[in-house]
Amino acid sequence: MFDVAIIGCGPVGAFAANLLGKSGLSVLVIEQEANPYPLPRAVHLDHEMMRLFQSAGVIDKVASDMRDTEGHLHVGADHGVIRYMGTVGRPRPYSWSNDYFFYQPELEDHLRDALAAYPNVTVQLGVAFTGLDQDGEGVTLRLSGDRVEQARYVIACDGARSAVRKALGIRLDDLDFEEPWLVVDAEVDGPVRFPDLWGVPQDADLQKLSVMMCDPKRPATIVPGRGNHRRWEFMLLPGEDDQAMMEPEAVAALVEPYLSGVPHQVVRAATYRFHGLIAERWRQGGVFLAGDAAHQTPPFFGQGMCHGMRDAANLAWKLELVLKGRAPDALLDSYQPERDPHVRAVISAAVGAGRYICMLDPEAAAERDAQMRDAAKDAQHGTAADLIPAIAVGIIAAGTPGAGERFIQPRVGERLLDDITGSGWRLFTGTSMDGGDVTVIDLAQLDDQGAIAVWLADRDADAVLVRPDHYVFGTGKPADLIARRNALIAGPVHQEIAA
Ligand SMILES: Cc1cc2nc3c(=O)[nH]c(=O)nc-3n(C[C@H](O)[C@H](O)[C@H](O)COP(=O)(O)OP(=O)(O)OC[C@H]3O[C@@H](n4cnc5c(N)ncnc54)[C@H](O)[C@@H]3O)c2cc1C
Repeated sequence: MFDVAIIGCGPVGAFAANLLGKSGLSVLVIEQEANPYPLPRAVHLDHEMMRLFQSAGVIDKVASDMRDTEGHLHVGADHGVIRYMGTVGRPRPYSWSNDYFFYQPELEDHLRDALAAYPNVTVQLGVAFTGLDQDGEGVTLRLSGDRVEQARYVIACDGARSAVRKALGIRLDDLDFEEPWLVVDAEVDGPVRFPDLWGVPQDADLQKLSVMMCDPKRPATIVPGRGNHRRWEFMLLPGEDDQAMMEPEAVAALVEPYLSGVPHQVVRAATYRFHGLIAERWRQGGVFLAGDAAHQTPPFFGQGMCHGMRDAANLAWKLELVLKGRAPDALLDSYQPERDPHVRAVISAAVGAGRYICMLDPEAAAERDAQMRDAAKDAQHGTAADLIPAIAVGIIAAGTPGAGERFIQPRVGERLLDDITGSGWRLFTGTSMDGGDVTVIDLAQLDDQGAIAVWLADRDADAVLVRPDHYVFGTGKPADLIARRNALIAGPVHQEIAA
């Protein structure tokens, strides 16, 4: 019997397999296709993902394929800026750029290749999940070719149409947003052209921003992918036919204003329905939903895959504790209470943006533009990272300053903090003590230019305890924090959280 079976080796499944493989658990990965999906869907990821790639030991493989970028710019019907979420000059809390563009098939290749390093990870390609049964011992998986495998736990990373979710009869909560968009990818040899825009902040470089043209004549996004890859997303207007809009002539007409005179080759055009959906239950017995199987978002902030990676990071350390006998199964009940509000907040922000981006009535769009400019007046602009909330309920020392936030990752000399401390449970303190299975890091010995001391002083705390997924457990007195953490993990308190 495997410790964990992962159904689906898309980006989320492959990432989860790396994290679990690194922790030494026996892992089975089942994927129905022989090769990764060859065309990009996700193009953007944020700095938290780069940190998680460090944790999974794949950062050296993936980093060189990333193009760092400078945030988002939303442009109104009159071609004036209505919202700017630029990152130039803004803090880099994890020492990575705030946002990156990448090519999804390359990322998936790297994540799959990295699994070869783990003899404890078995990958079966060309094998489809067809059904499951559960009992007190674990989960029995029925697979194509009349095969059967068993695992203590299963993570369903089998995407939006998840067969596992359907087999469990789990319904999706619909956030009431559904719009048809045409996605066009092109290799472009030169800068993209934009119409004359006004109100563009001085530090904004259109070639490095995700630009949203909120033009009621045709809402569109222009995204600077890695290398020569550029992405356009065009909203389909009422009455437009998917097939007709994917024809080369129709696609050429849509990109022409941006590429006139610029050598380019369209790589693909496909239509999608952008929607906001969240599974009602994320756990059933020994089976957990993660990634698109658990939630889908309109891609306006490029967070869909990022949510899935966070799911995997949240589950991985909990599964490790439970499967190594250091915590009861009930710890896993904290998965949905921690992740669902988090995902819901960001999807709601994307749906909210979608509602104003997709406005097709010129008068309503003009009113929107005026209101948004008014609201932005005199306000310091935010970044997309500000959309990500702290964990409010779960395995955290609730009520202590900073609990549930993502912890900073300063540089320590030439290196990054996690590369020195590892990414298990870490207590940063000035007091020397035995932390049990928590790594105690003496701040006096850490050449971080005082970054963590400043973070602590801002929260008026002596010590901070950080979880393996880099979220802050809590702040306070070192011994109290460890005692509270041990009680939460081992005790019945998290059952109350789940209830
Ligand atoms: C146009 C568009 C733009 C996007 N942009 C972004 C972005 O910029 N940033 C971002 O973070 N996200 C973005 N997303 C979302 C992102 O692409 C998805 O969230 C991500 O691909 C989901 O990963 P996953 O591993 O959960 O699912 P998938 O990528 O769908 O992978 C699921 C895997 O499961 C396998 N599978 C399915 N059924 C079975 C079965 N029965 N048995 C075995 N295997 C099975 C499939 O073959 C597949 O390999 C975008 C999405 C779209 C459509």
